[in-house]
Amino acid sequence: MSSVLDQFKLFIFDLDGVVYEGKKVIKGATDVLAALNKKNKIIYALTNNSTLTREMYHDKLLKIGIKLDVENIMTSAYASAYYLSQNFGSNKNAYVIGEVGLLEELEKVDIFPVNKYSQNELPETVDFVVVGLDRELHYNKLAFALNYILKGAMFIASNDDPNLPSDNGILPGAGSMVSALTTCSGKKPYITIGKPNPITINQILNKEQVSPGNTVIIGDRFTTDISAGLNAGIKTIMVLTGAGKSELNLALNAPQKPHMIVDSINDLLKII
Ligand SMILES: [Mg+2]
Repeated sequence: MSSVLDQFKLFIFDLDGVVYEGKKVIKGATDVLAALNKKNKIIYALTNNSTLTREMYHDKLLKIGIKLDVENIMTSAYASAYYLSQNFGSNKNAYVIGEVGLLEELEKVDIFPVNKYSQNELPETVDFVVVGLDRELHYNKLAFALNYILKGAMFIASNDDPNLPSDNGILPGAGSMVSALTTCSGKKPYITIGKPNPITINQILNKEQVSPGNTVIIGDRFTTDISAGLNAGIKTIMVLTGAGKSELNLALNAPQKPHMIVDSINDLLKII
């Protein structure tokens, strides 16, 4: 097959289910990224997973042989922090349902995570309640978040993923925690930052000064990765690893379908 992918200058990869599944690297992933790198393509990782910082993702990718600059790694945690600081300024505070990635990315932009160091001595009110995947979610955390929202804190969802793949099978995602808060507060998030919101893709296009037509996103979820790509007006490639198989019917029956569907990232090697 010809070098179909050569028309693109900018490649945005989802990680979970595309590059790796749990601890297992998907066959061909490192080769595809190396081949694109050799062709001087611009490569970004864009993940809805908010549990790690960009630096942690950098190290995690390096361990499996993928070298990406920290600046080329976008997570919903980083994107949430960036969005809040750009739109509402820094020197704010937030109650966080989330893990180290979300806590630290917020702290880096001077949005103080009030529950990072202690669950005691919390302030009466906060500017934001920011929600991401929290594998130590506890009833008390939901109770604090609920009360802050009812007192006027802005409810921000880093992403709305219903679940995620892991080595131990499928696990509840950030979306299930967002739903818990939506149910008890009667309020929907002011904004959901992660995919399918095209906000971060647009930010990447802006930064790299590449047109949407020269950009492609590779993802396993139709509802997030592919929809974000379609929303941003870029080209989309759906892989059937990760959540791909379970979202294939959804993709095939959607009014706007992925531009290309392949079995796995490995198939891209033939068309680079
Ligand atoms: Mg994925």
